[in-house]
Amino acid sequence: MTSLVIQTAFLGDVVLTTPLLAAVAARHGPVDVVTTPAAAPLVETHPAVRRVVPYDKRWRDRGWAGLRALGRRLRAEGYERAYLPHRSLRTAALALLARIPARIGFHDGWPFFYTEVRRRPVDGHEVDRLLALAEEPSAAYAPTLHPTLDDERVAGAFLAAAGIGEGAGFVAMAPGSIWGSKRWPHYGELAGRLAAQTPVVVVGGPEDAALGEEIVGAVNACGKLTLRQSAALIGRAELLVTNDSAPLHVATAMGTPIVAVFGPTLPEFGFGPLRSGDMALGVTGLACRPCSRHGPPRCPLGHHRCMRDLAPDVVATAIEEARALRRRD
Ligand code: SF4
Repeated sequence: MTSLVIQTAFLGDVVLTTPLLAAVAARHGPVDVVTTPAAAPLVETHPAVRRVVPYDKRWRDRGWAGLRALGRRLRAEGYERAYLPHRSLRTAALALLARIPARIGFHDGWPFFYTEVRRRPVDGHEVDRLLALAEEPSAAYAPTLHPTLDDERVAGAFLAAAGIGEGAGFVAMAPGSIWGSKRWPHYGELAGRLAAQTPVVVVGGPEDAALGEEIVGAVNACGKLTLRQSAALIGRAELLVTNDSAPLHVATAMGTPIVAVFGPTLPEFGFGPLRSGDMALGVTGLACRPCSRHGPPRCPLGHHRCMRDLAPDVVATAIEEARALRRRD
Protein backbone atom coordinates (compact mmCIF):
# COMPACT_ATOMS: atom_id res chain seq x y z
CA MET A 1 0.00 0.00 0.00
CA THR A 2 1.18 3.47 -0.88
CA SER A 3 2.69 5.98 1.51
CA LEU A 4 1.48 9.57 1.58
CA VAL A 5 3.62 12.67 2.22
CA ILE A 6 1.75 15.89 3.04
CA GLN A 7 3.82 19.02 2.38
CA THR A 8 1.85 22.20 1.76
CA ALA A 9 4.49 24.75 2.81
CA PHE A 10 6.33 27.16 0.47
CA LEU A 11 7.90 26.13 -2.86
CA GLY A 12 11.41 26.01 -1.40
CA ASP A 13 10.23 23.70 1.39
CA VAL A 14 8.72 21.37 -1.18
CA VAL A 15 12.04 21.21 -3.07
CA LEU A 16 13.84 20.45 0.21
CA THR A 17 11.34 17.64 0.85
CA THR A 18 12.40 15.72 -2.30
CA PRO A 19 15.14 13.80 -0.40
CA LEU A 20 12.47 12.61 2.06
CA LEU A 21 10.28 11.51 -0.88
CA ALA A 22 13.22 9.54 -2.30
CA ALA A 23 14.00 7.96 1.10
CA VAL A 24 10.39 6.86 1.68
CA ALA A 25 10.11 5.58 -1.91
CA ALA A 26 13.30 3.54 -1.53
CA ARG A 27 11.79 1.80 1.49
CA HIS A 28 8.11 1.48 0.55
CA GLY A 29 7.78 2.24 -3.19
CA PRO A 30 6.72 5.47 -4.97
CA VAL A 31 4.77 7.86 -2.77
CA ASP A 32 1.69 10.03 -3.23
CA VAL A 33 2.15 13.69 -2.28
CA VAL A 34 -0.36 16.28 -1.11
CA THR A 35 1.00 19.72 -1.91
CA THR A 36 -0.08 23.18 -3.10
CA PRO A 37 -1.27 23.67 -6.69
CA ALA A 38 1.80 25.90 -7.24
CA ALA A 39 4.26 23.21 -6.13
CA ALA A 40 2.47 20.25 -7.74
CA PRO A 41 4.25 20.50 -11.15
CA LEU A 42 7.63 20.50 -9.39
CA VAL A 43 7.13 17.08 -7.82
CA GLU A 44 4.80 15.34 -10.29
CA THR A 45 7.77 14.34 -12.51
CA HIS A 46 9.91 13.13 -9.60
CA PRO A 47 10.75 9.41 -9.92
CA ALA A 48 9.90 8.87 -6.23
CA VAL A 49 6.35 10.13 -6.78
CA ARG A 50 3.40 8.05 -7.97
CA ARG A 51 0.75 10.75 -7.89
CA VAL A 52 0.32 14.34 -6.72
CA VAL A 53 -2.85 15.53 -5.01
CA PRO A 54 -3.08 19.34 -5.17
CA TYR A 55 -4.58 20.95 -2.06
CA ASP A 56 -5.66 24.56 -2.60
CA LYS A 57 -5.83 25.45 1.09
CA ARG A 58 -6.16 29.20 0.42
CA TRP A 59 -8.93 29.11 -2.18
CA ARG A 60 -10.81 26.15 -3.71
CA ASP A 61 -10.30 23.74 -0.75
CA ARG A 62 -10.21 26.40 1.96
CA GLY A 63 -11.68 26.00 5.41
CA TRP A 64 -12.91 23.05 7.41
CA ALA A 65 -15.25 21.88 4.61
CA GLY A 66 -12.36 21.72 2.12
CA LEU A 67 -10.19 19.85 4.60
CA ARG A 68 -12.91 17.28 5.33
CA ALA A 69 -13.64 16.75 1.64
CA LEU A 70 -9.95 16.12 0.92
CA GLY A 71 -9.75 13.85 3.99
CA ARG A 72 -12.59 11.75 2.54
CA ARG A 73 -10.86 11.50 -0.85
CA LEU A 74 -7.60 10.41 0.79
CA ARG A 75 -9.41 7.90 3.00
CA ALA A 76 -10.72 6.14 -0.12
CA GLU A 77 -7.10 5.55 -1.21
CA GLY A 78 -6.38 3.38 1.85
CA TYR A 79 -2.91 4.75 2.57
CA GLU A 80 -0.89 2.71 5.03
CA ARG A 81 1.27 5.51 6.38
CA ALA A 82 1.60 9.30 6.19
CA TYR A 83 4.75 11.35 6.65
CA LEU A 84 4.01 14.86 7.90
CA PRO A 85 7.04 17.15 7.49
CA HIS A 86 4.87 20.28 7.73
CA ARG A 87 4.16 20.90 11.41
CA SER A 88 0.80 22.62 10.96
CA LEU A 89 -2.43 21.63 12.68
CA ARG A 90 -4.10 21.44 9.26
CA THR A 91 -1.59 18.80 8.08
CA ALA A 92 -2.01 16.74 11.25
CA ALA A 93 -5.81 16.98 11.04
CA LEU A 94 -5.82 15.97 7.35
CA ALA A 95 -3.92 12.73 8.04
CA LEU A 96 -6.33 11.98 10.89
CA LEU A 97 -9.41 12.72 8.77
CA ALA A 98 -7.98 10.41 6.08
CA ARG A 99 -7.82 7.68 8.77
CA ILE A 100 -4.29 6.74 7.83
CA PRO A 101 -3.22 4.18 10.45
CA ALA A 102 0.47 5.24 10.74
CA ARG A 103 0.95 9.03 10.99
CA ILE A 104 4.58 10.07 11.40
CA GLY A 105 5.33 13.63 12.51
CA PHE A 106 7.76 15.76 14.49
CA HIS A 107 7.73 16.28 18.25
CA ASP A 108 7.28 20.03 17.82
CA GLY A 109 4.24 19.65 15.55
CA TRP A 110 1.01 18.10 16.89
CA PRO A 111 2.25 14.89 18.55
CA PHE A 112 -1.20 13.95 19.96
CA PHE A 113 -2.38 13.55 16.36
CA TYR A 114 0.52 11.29 15.35
CA THR A 115 1.06 7.59 15.93
CA GLU A 116 4.86 7.88 15.62
CA VAL A 117 6.75 10.93 16.83
CA ARG A 118 10.29 11.75 15.67
CA ARG A 119 12.53 14.33 17.22
CA ARG A 120 13.17 17.20 14.82
CA PRO A 121 16.88 18.14 15.04
CA VAL A 122 17.38 21.74 16.10
CA ASP A 123 20.55 22.22 14.08
CA GLY A 124 21.72 21.16 10.65
CA HIS A 125 20.32 21.69 7.18
CA GLU A 126 16.58 21.49 6.64
CA VAL A 127 17.14 18.51 4.28
CA ASP A 128 18.70 16.55 7.14
CA ARG A 129 15.99 17.64 9.56
CA LEU A 130 13.30 16.42 7.15
CA LEU A 131 15.14 13.14 6.56
CA ALA A 132 14.97 12.55 10.32
CA LEU A 133 11.25 11.91 9.79
CA ALA A 134 12.17 8.75 7.87
CA GLU A 135 15.07 8.03 10.24
CA GLU A 136 17.47 8.30 7.32
CA PRO A 137 21.07 9.38 7.88
CA SER A 138 22.09 12.87 6.82
CA ALA A 139 23.37 13.28 3.27
CA ALA A 140 21.89 9.94 2.19
CA TYR A 141 19.68 11.79 -0.29
CA ALA A 142 19.99 15.21 -1.97
CA PRO A 143 17.27 17.45 -3.43
CA THR A 144 16.52 16.72 -7.09
CA LEU A 145 14.07 18.07 -9.65
CA HIS A 146 13.20 16.48 -12.97
CA PRO A 147 12.10 18.83 -15.75
CA THR A 148 10.77 16.95 -18.77
CA LEU A 149 12.37 16.95 -22.23
CA ASP A 150 9.66 19.39 -23.25
CA ASP A 151 10.55 21.70 -20.33
CA GLU A 152 14.19 21.55 -21.47
CA ARG A 153 13.18 22.28 -25.05
CA VAL A 154 11.10 25.34 -24.06
CA ALA A 155 13.87 26.69 -21.79
CA GLY A 156 16.43 26.16 -24.57
CA ALA A 157 14.19 27.90 -27.12
CA PHE A 158 13.69 30.85 -24.75
CA LEU A 159 17.44 31.24 -24.31
CA ALA A 160 18.09 30.83 -28.04
CA ALA A 161 15.54 33.56 -28.81
CA ALA A 162 17.48 35.80 -26.41
CA GLY A 163 20.72 35.06 -28.28
CA ILE A 164 22.05 32.51 -25.78
CA GLY A 165 22.74 29.37 -27.78
CA GLU A 166 23.09 25.76 -26.59
CA GLY A 167 26.14 25.45 -24.32
CA ALA A 168 26.70 29.24 -24.07
CA GLY A 169 27.52 30.45 -20.57
CA PHE A 170 25.22 32.82 -18.69
CA VAL A 171 24.60 33.89 -15.12
CA ALA A 172 21.07 33.55 -13.74
CA MET A 173 19.77 35.99 -11.11
CA ALA A 174 16.75 35.54 -8.84
CA PRO A 175 16.05 38.95 -7.26
CA GLY A 176 12.60 38.13 -5.84
CA SER A 177 11.37 36.87 -2.49
CA ILE A 178 7.97 36.72 -0.82
CA TRP A 179 9.61 38.54 2.11
CA GLY A 180 10.57 42.07 1.09
CA SER A 181 13.42 42.36 3.57
CA LYS A 182 15.20 39.38 1.95
CA ARG A 183 15.47 41.12 -1.44
CA TRP A 184 18.98 42.38 -2.12
CA PRO A 185 18.64 45.81 -3.78
CA HIS A 186 21.81 45.78 -5.91
CA TYR A 187 21.03 43.19 -8.62
CA GLY A 188 20.84 45.91 -11.28
CA GLU A 189 24.30 47.23 -10.48
CA LEU A 190 25.75 43.72 -10.35
CA ALA A 191 24.20 42.86 -13.73
CA GLY A 192 25.73 46.03 -15.19
CA ARG A 193 29.18 44.87 -14.06
CA LEU A 194 28.71 41.34 -15.37
CA ALA A 195 27.23 42.41 -18.70
CA ALA A 196 30.63 42.94 -20.33
CA GLN A 197 31.68 39.35 -19.55
CA THR A 198 28.52 37.24 -19.69
CA PRO A 199 24.81 37.36 -20.50
CA VAL A 200 22.53 37.68 -17.47
CA VAL A 201 19.07 36.07 -17.26
CA VAL A 202 16.62 37.06 -14.52
CA VAL A 203 14.39 34.22 -13.26
CA GLY A 204 11.22 34.38 -11.19
CA GLY A 205 7.46 34.24 -11.32
CA PRO A 206 5.02 36.77 -12.79
CA GLU A 207 5.15 38.65 -9.47
CA ASP A 208 8.87 39.31 -10.10
CA ALA A 209 8.43 40.66 -13.65
CA ALA A 210 8.75 44.32 -12.60
CA LEU A 211 11.93 43.54 -10.62
CA GLY A 212 13.30 41.81 -13.72
CA GLU A 213 12.52 44.86 -15.89
CA GLU A 214 14.55 47.05 -13.53
CA ILE A 215 17.69 45.02 -14.29
CA VAL A 216 18.78 46.85 -17.41
CA GLY A 217 20.60 44.78 -20.01
CA ALA A 218 19.46 41.43 -18.60
CA VAL A 219 17.09 38.97 -20.27
CA ASN A 220 13.91 38.95 -18.21
CA ALA A 221 12.47 35.42 -17.93
CA CYS A 222 10.20 36.29 -14.96
CA GLY A 223 6.68 35.03 -15.60
CA LYS A 224 7.55 33.76 -19.08
CA LEU A 225 8.31 30.16 -18.15
CA THR A 226 6.58 27.60 -15.95
CA LEU A 227 8.24 26.53 -12.71
CA ARG A 228 9.73 23.38 -14.26
CA GLN A 229 10.89 25.29 -17.34
CA SER A 230 12.52 27.83 -15.00
CA ALA A 231 14.22 24.94 -13.20
CA ALA A 232 15.48 23.70 -16.57
CA LEU A 233 16.81 27.18 -17.35
CA ILE A 234 18.54 27.43 -13.95
CA GLY A 235 20.01 23.99 -14.66
CA ARG A 236 21.71 25.40 -17.77
CA ALA A 237 23.16 28.46 -16.02
CA GLU A 238 26.82 28.74 -15.15
CA LEU A 239 25.77 30.00 -11.75
CA LEU A 240 22.75 31.43 -9.89
CA VAL A 241 22.90 34.59 -7.78
CA THR A 242 19.94 34.53 -5.41
CA ASN A 243 18.44 35.71 -2.15
CA ASP A 244 17.49 33.30 0.62
CA SER A 245 14.49 32.10 -1.37
CA ALA A 246 13.09 29.16 -3.38
CA PRO A 247 15.41 29.54 -6.44
CA LEU A 248 18.37 28.76 -4.14
CA HIS A 249 16.90 25.31 -3.50
CA VAL A 250 15.94 24.86 -7.14
CA ALA A 251 19.59 25.52 -8.11
CA THR A 252 20.72 22.99 -5.48
CA ALA A 253 18.33 20.43 -6.96
CA MET A 254 19.52 21.18 -10.52
CA GLY A 255 23.25 21.03 -9.63
CA THR A 256 23.88 24.69 -10.49
CA PRO A 257 26.57 26.55 -8.49
CA ILE A 258 25.14 29.20 -6.14
CA VAL A 259 26.14 32.59 -4.76
CA ALA A 260 23.45 33.45 -2.20
CA VAL A 261 22.95 36.75 -0.40
CA PHE A 262 21.53 36.62 3.12
CA GLY A 263 20.15 39.68 4.96
CA PRO A 264 17.75 39.33 7.92
CA THR A 265 18.24 35.55 8.04
CA LEU A 266 21.33 33.33 8.35
CA PRO A 267 22.38 30.20 6.42
CA GLU A 268 22.73 28.53 9.83
CA PHE A 269 18.94 28.50 10.11
CA GLY A 270 19.15 25.49 7.81
CA PHE A 271 18.15 26.92 4.43
CA GLY A 272 21.55 27.84 3.00
CA PRO A 273 23.50 26.20 0.18
CA LEU A 274 24.13 22.50 0.79
CA ARG A 275 27.20 21.81 -1.33
CA SER A 276 30.79 22.77 -0.76
CA GLY A 277 31.83 25.39 -3.32
CA ASP A 278 28.49 27.20 -3.12
CA MET A 279 28.71 30.54 -1.33
CA ALA A 280 26.52 32.32 1.21
CA LEU A 281 27.29 36.01 1.73
CA GLY A 282 26.09 38.40 4.42
CA VAL A 283 27.03 41.58 6.25
CA THR A 284 28.96 40.92 9.45
CA GLY A 285 29.00 42.97 12.65
CA LEU A 286 25.45 44.29 12.34
CA ALA A 287 23.86 44.14 15.80
CA CYS A 288 20.29 43.74 14.53
CA ARG A 289 21.12 40.77 12.26
CA PRO A 290 19.46 38.27 12.18
CA CYS A 291 16.11 39.79 13.09
CA SER A 292 13.72 37.02 12.06
CA ARG A 293 13.51 33.34 11.15
CA HIS A 294 11.79 34.08 7.83
CA GLY A 295 12.63 37.71 7.15
CA PRO A 296 10.05 40.43 7.88
CA PRO A 297 8.08 42.05 5.01
CA ARG A 298 10.20 45.18 5.49
CA CYS A 299 13.08 46.22 7.73
CA PRO A 300 11.63 47.03 11.19
CA LEU A 301 14.42 49.60 11.69
CA GLY A 302 13.88 51.23 8.32
CA HIS A 303 17.53 51.25 7.18
CA HIS A 304 17.74 47.70 5.74
CA ARG A 305 21.51 47.75 6.19
CA CYS A 306 21.77 43.94 6.24
CA MET A 307 21.12 44.04 2.51
CA ARG A 308 22.05 47.58 1.44
CA ASP A 309 25.56 47.28 2.98
CA LEU A 310 26.35 44.10 1.06
CA ALA A 311 28.21 45.73 -1.84
CA PRO A 312 27.96 44.51 -5.46
CA ASP A 313 31.79 44.30 -5.42
CA VAL A 314 31.67 41.60 -2.75
CA VAL A 315 29.14 39.58 -4.72
CA ALA A 316 31.04 40.06 -8.00
CA THR A 317 34.23 38.75 -6.33
CA ALA A 318 32.35 35.71 -5.01
CA ILE A 319 31.03 35.03 -8.51
CA GLU A 320 34.57 35.14 -9.88
CA GLU A 321 35.75 32.73 -7.16
CA ALA A 322 32.88 30.35 -7.82
CA ARG A 323 33.61 30.40 -11.54
CA ALA A 324 37.33 29.83 -10.96
CA LEU A 325 36.48 26.88 -8.69
CA ARG A 326 34.28 25.42 -11.40
CA ARG A 327 37.01 25.81 -14.03
CA ARG A 328 39.39 23.84 -11.80
CA ASP A 329 36.86 20.98 -11.37
S1 SF4 B 1 16.49 44.90 11.40
FE1 SF4 B 1 18.57 44.53 10.70
S2 SF4 B 1 18.55 42.38 10.04
FE2 SF4 B 1 16.41 43.03 10.17
S3 SF4 B 1 15.85 43.71 8.11
FE3 SF4 B 1 16.58 45.53 9.25
S4 SF4 B 1 18.76 45.68 8.79
FE4 SF4 B 1 18.08 43.62 8.25
